[in-house]
Amino acid sequence: MSTTMPGSDTMPFPPNSVYIAGEWISSPDLERLPVLNPASEEVIGSIVDASPAEVEAAFAAARAALPTWSATAPGERADVLDRLADAFREHGEELAVLASREIGMPIKESRAGQADLPERVLRSTADIARNFPWEARDASGTTVIREPVGVVLGITPWNFPVHQIVAKLAPALAAGCTIVLKPAELTPLNGLFVAALCERIGVPSGVVNVLTGRGATTGEALVQSGQYDLVSFTGSLAVGRHIGAVAGDRVVRATLELGGKSPAVVLDDADVEAAVRATVRNCFTNAGQKCNAPTRLIVPEARREEAVSIAASAAAAYVLGDPLDENSTMGPLASAEQREKVLSCVEGARARGARVAGGGAVDGVNRGYFVRPAIITDVEPDDPVVQEEIFGPVLVVLGHEGEDDAVRLANDTPYGLSAEVWSGNPARAADLARRIHAGQVRVNGVRTPALPISPFGGYKASGLGRELGPFGLEEYVEVKAVLGDPSDSIPSKEEPQCVL
Ligand code: NAD
Repeated sequence: MSTTMPGSDTMPFPPNSVYIAGEWISSPDLERLPVLNPASEEVIGSIVDASPAEVEAAFAAARAALPTWSATAPGERADVLDRLADAFREHGEELAVLASREIGMPIKESRAGQADLPERVLRSTADIARNFPWEARDASGTTVIREPVGVVLGITPWNFPVHQIVAKLAPALAAGCTIVLKPAELTPLNGLFVAALCERIGVPSGVVNVLTGRGATTGEALVQSGQYDLVSFTGSLAVGRHIGAVAGDRVVRATLELGGKSPAVVLDDADVEAAVRATVRNCFTNAGQKCNAPTRLIVPEARREEAVSIAASAAAAYVLGDPLDENSTMGPLASAEQREKVLSCVEGARARGARVAGGGAVDGVNRGYFVRPAIITDVEPDDPVVQEEIFGPVLVVLGHEGEDDAVRLANDTPYGLSAEVWSGNPARAADLARRIHAGQVRVNGVRTPALPISPFGGYKASGLGRELGPFGLEEYVEVKAVLGDPSDSIPSKEEPQCVL
């Protein structure tokens, strides 16, 4: 495999190809889509918009590979994940640079989130697979068997491109499933890079297949194909609703990892300065394009002005620039469309009377989709800027009148993906965490542990199902109960009455 810097013409896979049944396939008939670097607006590659023919071929390959792959021992599949993790370590810098070039993520964040984290997810999933209760007896004597759900369709967004692919690929492979993956059209090269690593370490042909293309064309053809046993989707609420409806109509399992509008709740006994600075940092990772970003800072009303001032000065200190420059602390937004959406959300709030610090275009910068981070306050709790996911560097500061009011505000959106709570009293913080309707609550700034096995997923409109760790693996298995002890003799004619 080439180790040439990604983003140049040389990639570890042929241009304009998709990966099906262990082969790189291209067709001159397929439409080409350019891949842009959002920092420079330069074309860094191109992909094909895969058609229903490639969709058909990919599912046929995944279906054909299923019997053999699902019959391999869990320990053998775990060994494959470890080998893939080794390849991620070897090519981590290339993956990170490519992620920075595809979405504009600062290189330090790419190294942590798109190389190191996926490697750790692969290794931790391998360990879980080695110790998973694939077959166990329950207290009634029934044997409970966990079997692979079958062929998986994985559809991922662009914001944490490699991590989101691996969060589906690792449990699918560990469970004995085969998979057809479609990465987002803004970050397809990373998806193809992962396919090339699978090929390199000898994942059997057909077990992993990667198609590129638009959501409305390739994505829709995949979803409508009816050829999968589970669809695992990460992306927007609108598309998630649609995919969930299609899956529900066919009675096919769907896991949906959707949006968020996560609160950071600061109680009156917390270190306000530390809480505000950490919230700004967490909110503005990847220029705020993070599903679990704490985008609503809820502080005691009496401390709101102080919090706004700390947040505004922390936001103003961001160094916007080339994501590959180690000194840049914020890159551009991922696309022109994303920049327009963020700018119009902030302007809309201002027009409705909100006070805005920062925001807007960057003076003197004519190329790249850069937007200055914004801190917004003086808004009603039902304002769109408080209720709707913006997916950009925008933090809203709200005031609360005590713990109950803070909980009410925290829970007052359609979403429930994540939350942060801050208190000087650990017992109070733990109590507050229990009152918040979210799939993950982080106490006093704690980040994702080195062992990434805690369940991740949403309450309410943030989704269905969980990723990572044992809960994530459970999504990829069917459960079978075999009643009757094989060592028992044939039951007598006087059987107990059948009730179920
Ligand atoms: P998106 O929904 O537009 O696209 C996500 C993926 O779905 C892409 O691969 C896209 O091509 C595909 N797609 C689009 N329309 C489709 C269709 N009709 N049929 C099949 N596939 C289709 O989302 P996005 O803009 O790429 O990502 C941003 C969103 O993702 C945000 O809302 C964010 O909160 C969410 N997200 C959620 C999580 C989570 O774990 N909860 C993580 C990251 C991002």
